[in-house]
Amino acid sequence: MSFTLHGIGVSPGIAIGVCRVASHTRIEVAHYVLSSQSLDKEVARFDHAIATVRNEMEVLRKQIPVNAPAELSAFLDMHQMILDDAMLSDVPRQLIHSQQCNAEWALAQQMEHLLEQFDAIEDAYLRERKADVVQVVERVLKVLLGHPDNLPSTESNLADCILVAHDLSPADMISFKRQRYSAFITDVGGATSHTAILARSLGIPSVMALHSAHELIRDNEIMIVDGDQGVVIVDPADNELEEYQLRQEQWLLEHQKLRRLSGSRSATLDGLDIELFANIELPDDVTAAKQAGATGIGLFRSEFLFMNRTDLPGEEEQFDAYRAVATEMLGQPVTIRTLDIGADKPVGGLTDNTLNPALGRRAIRLCLSEPAMFHTQLRAILRASHYGQVRIMIPMLCNLQELRMTRQALMRARASLEADGIPFDAQIQLGGMIEVPAAAMMAHAFAEQLDFLSIGTNDLIQYTLAIDRADDGVAYLYDPRHPAVVQLIAQTIRAGSKLGKPVSICGEMAGDPRLTRLLLGLGLRYFSMQSASLLSVKQQVLKADMQKIALLVQKILKTTDEDKLDSLYARLNQ
Ligand code: PEP
Ligand code: MG
Repeated sequence: MSFTLHGIGVSPGIAIGVCRVASHTRIEVAHYVLSSQSLDKEVARFDHAIATVRNEMEVLRKQIPVNAPAELSAFLDMHQMILDDAMLSDVPRQLIHSQQCNAEWALAQQMEHLLEQFDAIEDAYLRERKADVVQVVERVLKVLLGHPDNLPSTESNLADCILVAHDLSPADMISFKRQRYSAFITDVGGATSHTAILARSLGIPSVMALHSAHELIRDNEIMIVDGDQGVVIVDPADNELEEYQLRQEQWLLEHQKLRRLSGSRSATLDGLDIELFANIELPDDVTAAKQAGATGIGLFRSEFLFMNRTDLPGEEEQFDAYRAVATEMLGQPVTIRTLDIGADKPVGGLTDNTLNPALGRRAIRLCLSEPAMFHTQLRAILRASHYGQVRIMIPMLCNLQELRMTRQALMRARASLEADGIPFDAQIQLGGMIEVPAAAMMAHAFAEQLDFLSIGTNDLIQYTLAIDRADDGVAYLYDPRHPAVVQLIAQTIRAGSKLGKPVSICGEMAGDPRLTRLLLGLGLRYFSMQSASLLSVKQQVLKADMQKIALLVQKILKTTDEDKLDSLYARLNQ
């Protein structure tokens, strides 16, 4: 039966494919009663399956390319840990005996039991590890049932598949960077949640906040995902399929045309140079950044090195990751943001399960309260600064005391490297993110003390308008053009330019071509965004007439009436 669902389009493009519904194990497991004499044999069959999967994981580990991101092996570590846990590798053996049942049934029963326990866990990160337990169990079941191995990295035809999930965590999305689905859809999530940001970084269509997609859609159904309009059509009619195939071709054609802009100078019609930097989550993302023609990395979200693993990355591992980016960018700026975990990016063991994590101990607050961990990261970033133009950026500053304490931590890291005789860039720049309204209102004070500022509009909007950026229930209030938001951005840019300190925007606003003229008119000269958006923004920059834009944006700054604003924005983007 054909039906249509409406949600929030968070990553543009059109995909047509076969649904893969993420659920508890999809493998059907039969239950049969065994005679007492065959129970030992059944336990041996179970042990053999566990040993086979352990072996497969070892083989997989040996196949990891040397330059693969660290979290791939961390992901394997976690799966190995789950496999070796007595709850999975031993309890089913007892169940086989006590229930006189087959190994598959015992394992599936134990998995359901474990998943119920996961549901009751308060820690969001640990709760999300449910999916890992299911994946490990599926692998053991496949061996028991004699199915061929189906390792995540060797899944063959994902390019035609659309993943349908109730929710995906940023950590899940990072794992999907290697499993190329053609689109994602989820029941929950907001357009600037980190999951949505990662979907955009994959450059594949994605729709969120569909509420009941996961319930309504079945495996193997054909589906259309329109990431621009936020529309999903399940089991489409022939004429709908034809229409969307056509639109998909047009979209791809436009995309190809955009690619031609990657090497051209980024300047407005009047010849004003505009820097277009890329946001990255992992060192591998540099390839896409360079392909899009980014002239620097304006935001390296270092916290993604800390995800999908049970331990913290040490200094060497972090150094390797930061140096790889610095080296590849060949002297262009690489802005490494210090760890910004918490809120919708929990990292097991480090983040609190407070009532409102977005207002809790996250980002610089957390780093300052974990001095050893912060010291390790600062040393690693400083060491990498010897290999390129690395800059340090502090997230979520809200007062000058935090800045002072960060400086002290930085001085300690520098002194320790000097004592060890390890080289680093003594002129390394220190910048801060303006993403709390308090910081925007006193941007001049931060600009005085820092080398550069970068406005994190995702959080700035969240905190100014008091709406959780990951909650689709209040997504309708998430308004980058809200006069209060625009005033705070304008104020921050003015504060920086008065003191000759560069100000960039690295929130999602910078990557939205519908807002490029507004930001140019507010005086923004440095944009940093997901590589997938860079060329659409460049196209807007190339068409921008600064004189006309400046006049209209001055009017926008003086207007609060919504109808008048709508017409001014329409004229601005004409
Ligand atoms: C922001 O808040 O705008 C930002 C760039 O940081 P993040 O999205 O990682 O919170
Ligand atoms: Mg932020």
